[in-house]
Amino acid sequence: MSANRPYDYIITGAGCAGLSLLVHLARNGNFRDKKILLIDQDDKVRNDRTWCFWQTGEGPFEPIVHKQWSQAWFHSDTISRLLDLQPYHYKLIRGIDFYRYCFDVIGKELDVTLRKGTVKAVRNTENTAEVQLEDEWIAADYVFNSILFRPPVVRTKDHYLLQHFKGRIIETPQPVFDPAQATLMDFRTGQQHGATFVYVMPFTPQRALVEYTLFNESELTGEEYDAGLDDYISRILGIQDYTITDTEQGVIPMTDHRFPKRDGRIIYTGTAGGQTKASSGYTFDFIQQHSAHITTQLAAGRDPLHGYHGTPARFRFYDRVLLHILRQRHPSGSAVFSDLFKKNEPRQVLRFIGNESTLLEELSVISKLPVLPFFKAALQQL
Ligand SMILES: Cc1cc2nc3c(=O)[nH]c(=O)nc-3n(C[C@H](O)[C@H](O)[C@H](O)COP(=O)(O)OP(=O)(O)OC[C@H]3O[C@@H](n4cnc5c(N)ncnc54)[C@H](O)[C@@H]3O)c2cc1C
Repeated sequence: MSANRPYDYIITGAGCAGLSLLVHLARNGNFRDKKILLIDQDDKVRNDRTWCFWQTGEGPFEPIVHKQWSQAWFHSDTISRLLDLQPYHYKLIRGIDFYRYCFDVIGKELDVTLRKGTVKAVRNTENTAEVQLEDEWIAADYVFNSILFRPPVVRTKDHYLLQHFKGRIIETPQPVFDPAQATLMDFRTGQQHGATFVYVMPFTPQRALVEYTLFNESELTGEEYDAGLDDYISRILGIQDYTITDTEQGVIPMTDHRFPKRDGRIIYTGTAGGQTKASSGYTFDFIQQHSAHITTQLAAGRDPLHGYHGTPARFRFYDRVLLHILRQRHPSGSAVFSDLFKKNEPRQVLRFIGNESTLLEELSVISKLPVLPFFKAALQQL
């Protein structure tokens, strides 16, 4: 740090990746004397999303886990199975709780200056990385950037699907939900737009998040999401009388595009840094692993990405194959996920989707999927 480099680190984006990294730095204890600048264009005071992820034991955000489940249903037209997720717990964190908690931890443990504004660009100079905040350039040793300045330029051979969804938190006058059992995926809904499922996260016997989700190329109209939710809630859940207390809507890229890990002293984090799992959209836990890695390396005085290799090649290959199948819609997403959950132990599936499995486990999981289409799709990806 010096006069022309007033900060050790600049963190652009106070979303999941930016705040997670700060919480990891705070917990480490070795960063109290670092001057850090955090920039976001938003105040982060809205409950703009909920994060679900699975974990064994306790994680860094345990105090704000809103609800967790060790049992969850999988439903389709061919099977209904109650999955025992142990040793994993499927956890849910509300966006607003996450933002408040992170700002609280950071405020107590780190020297962070928060500025609100629009970051226009990031660049490297000879010895620093710089951020353009409105018309001012600000320098630091490293910039940790989670802002996607423009949509990625995807190669023609890469897949680019969207996971898009609309959810409602609903309350019913009578107890109708079992709060001990979530629904991870329910494909008993129209499949005309491609792989379409609903998940249900019950908080109490009278309150649940019901989310209508699709994996395909393009978003639906507002009326189409609402029609999907109306149909599921009345026809499948059998609920006619309810109040909507909150809604959430979002889009997550599902792509095998290789997002940059870094550019000199600019380190890309979050979705912009490739932390979103291509074939599922799950990001939260990968962001935690990435943040933990960066923190350990910085604390040891090393380059933040020292020893970091990103998603192992074989998992990237599995993701490509599944994206190919989802895009072709043959076999259907419903058929693929039915086989995945029908014939495998849930914990094996979670290890597989979480990029934690061994090669032997992967072969066992894959062997239970529709063999011929997967074999053909795999050959095409090779
Ligand atoms: C509604 C929703 C629900 C999701 N649910 C899950 C889930 O259940 N499980 C899961 O694993 N993943 C989930 N995801 C995917 C992923 O975890 C989230 O998108 C996550 O927030 C990604 O973290 P991030 O830091 O990369 O991006 P964000 O959290 O979006 O943070 C980016 C930040 O950058 C700021 N910003 C953007 N542009 C600028 C600019 N030019 N200047 C200044 N600031 C800027 C934004 O205001 C934002 O605060 C969900 C995504 C959405 C949209």
